[in-house]
Amino acid sequence: MDADLEQLQHLESLSRQLDPGKSLRDHLTAMSFTHVSEFINSLPARKAYVKADCPELKKLEISDEGKSMDLLLKIVQNEVHHAGINAASGGHLGYIPGGGLWLSGMGDMLAAVGNRYAGLAFSGTGAVIMENQLLRWLCQLVGYPVTAHGNIASGGSMATLVALTTARDHHKINSANVRRSVLYFTSQAHHCIHKAIHILGLSEAVIREVQVNELYQMDVDALSQMIADDKLNGLYPFLVIATAGTTNTGAIDPLDQIADMAQSNGLWYHVDAAYGGFFMLLEEQKEKFKGIERSDSLVLDPHKGMFLPFGIGVVLVKDRNALLKAHHADAAYMVDTEGAEEINPADCGPELTKHFRGMRMWLPLHYHGVDAFRACLREKLLLCQYFHQEIKKLGFETGPSPSLSVTYYRYPAEDRNDFNKKLVEKLHEDGRVFFSSTVLDGEVWIRCAILSFRTHLEQVQLGIQMIKENLEKLK
Ligand SMILES: *Cc1c(COP(=O)(O)O)cnc(C)c1O
Repeated sequence: MDADLEQLQHLESLSRQLDPGKSLRDHLTAMSFTHVSEFINSLPARKAYVKADCPELKKLEISDEGKSMDLLLKIVQNEVHHAGINAASGGHLGYIPGGGLWLSGMGDMLAAVGNRYAGLAFSGTGAVIMENQLLRWLCQLVGYPVTAHGNIASGGSMATLVALTTARDHHKINSANVRRSVLYFTSQAHHCIHKAIHILGLSEAVIREVQVNELYQMDVDALSQMIADDKLNGLYPFLVIATAGTTNTGAIDPLDQIADMAQSNGLWYHVDAAYGGFFMLLEEQKEKFKGIERSDSLVLDPHKGMFLPFGIGVVLVKDRNALLKAHHADAAYMVDTEGAEEINPADCGPELTKHFRGMRMWLPLHYHGVDAFRACLREKLLLCQYFHQEIKKLGFETGPSPSLSVTYYRYPAEDRNDFNKKLVEKLHEDGRVFFSSTVLDGEVWIRCAILSFRTHLEQVQLGIQMIKENLEKLK
């Protein structure tokens, strides 16, 4: 039977809707760009936090017929871009603020429209070269040798999963020995570590919470004692995890001393630098990270310290063979892809087909140059010191002078946990600037975390003013 050409033409005319021609394409692009550009212009006048329940979005059904771009952009504007915490706003001083560089937006568009296959050098040669160059630049930044490599994943949690998979396999932890294998980290380690441990089948291992000192840094003497005791008891210590910039307080563990411990006991040494790592771009900050170059693996989040949009986290592994061994898989249908000069990203993590994330980092990095990033990071450190100093003047009790760009404070009222919880609620209701709280040793503290590239003196001063006003209302 002949293929029905008429039917084919009919289907072609319908399916071409998915591929708008130049004039429609330009029109839709202009509408979208007007939308995002106005979004940015409106940020200074908008709150950093708005509680929302998004009725139009919930109502909108996926239908057989298409809808107008106008309608869709209105929903994005009213119920997506302005609902909840506005992570693009310079007034976001909670958790670890996110970024959203304009040039990364351009990069994402280039990556998505070009749709290069970034998993394999055979298919996406330029894309893979680009990602591998970025990885080499990051290896240099942290002082790793040329034999190190890594992977550009979707975030710090996925990057951590890749690092800990490599550690587990390198130490041959399996069902026969998992119950006597030991991992060490502190109460201040990020919860993505617990998640990774669970996913990796390490929940049955012995998990030691190492004590912290008054600055919430790992107590290395306690670590040393624990390792010695565990060895004496016939256990197998294999992994220690340090944090270079904790989410809670910005504390940096004593990286060099932990490296000594890891080295003399043959442990895999992982450093979580998801938040703090990019401060290493600043010459004057490097000393704080001394010893990071002695780690076996580490994680950096460009969607934090490089101000990129959410969705990019990097793992680096010093021994690239360990990384490849833990993640490379063969398949008969992939034989054409072998023998490329570049290491394939697909061999360095769980993803085969992946978002071409390198582009959103490469474009702003080359366009702006590294110095622009340095200035922005330096500004954030100074702003945090300024906040720390000014909040004290309002009568707040604070943590120590900030080691990076996170600081914490509370009002020394009677019944202070309750009072500070109420103050945070008030701050959230206000929403002009967004702060989040935490619990340290059972005590409620409010945090100020400065890392958005749009946070400048104006936003910090507004935050302080807002705290002052809400404090007075509560008192
Ligand atoms: C944010 C963060 C993570 C988790 O990274 P995601 O990108 O959110 O998955 C891990 N560790 C630290 C220290 C972090 O600040």
